[in-house]
Amino acid sequence: TIGMVAMDANGNLGGACTTSGLAYKMHGRVGDSPVIGAGLYVDNEVGAASASGVGEEVIRIVGSHLVVELMRQGLKPEDACKKAVERIVQRGPERAKKIQVAFVALNKQGEVGGYSLQPGFSYSVRSNQVDQVVPAKSYFS
Ligand code: ASP
Repeated sequence: TIGMVAMDANGNLGGACTTSGLAYKMHGRVGDSPVIGAGLYVDNEVGAASASGVGEEVIRIVGSHLVVELMRQGLKPEDACKKAVERIVQRGPERAKKIQVAFVALNKQGEVGGYSLQPGFSYSVRSNQVDQVVPAKSYFS
């Protein structure tokens, strides 16, 4: 999945995501990316989030919406992403060891963050001041 969350010059938030789905997927499978709240969610009052990885797991926790709601409660983007990843682990500790799920998030203050289940996920941050690739922290090491 390629997920993007963005803020314009007026502070308005937006987002988009696209995916080829999973390899060997069942015909007709719908992943998380086209499901608003799962693969992508934007609330212009609070923040925006997008997910990557095994979509079934993301759909089950309505992951991107969860991340935005956690930011609404005051969590920083990275902490909100981390909590959503931990929710996936809680639901299936054994399964979580074998799959990848990652989130990126942006809040209304322009702060960004990401977090993944497995190592190896990184995200790009681009603004007038910043142009960098950030390796995300992960639940497993
Ligand atoms: N999230 C996608 C899906 O489950 C897979 C991906 O990350 O590319 O369809």
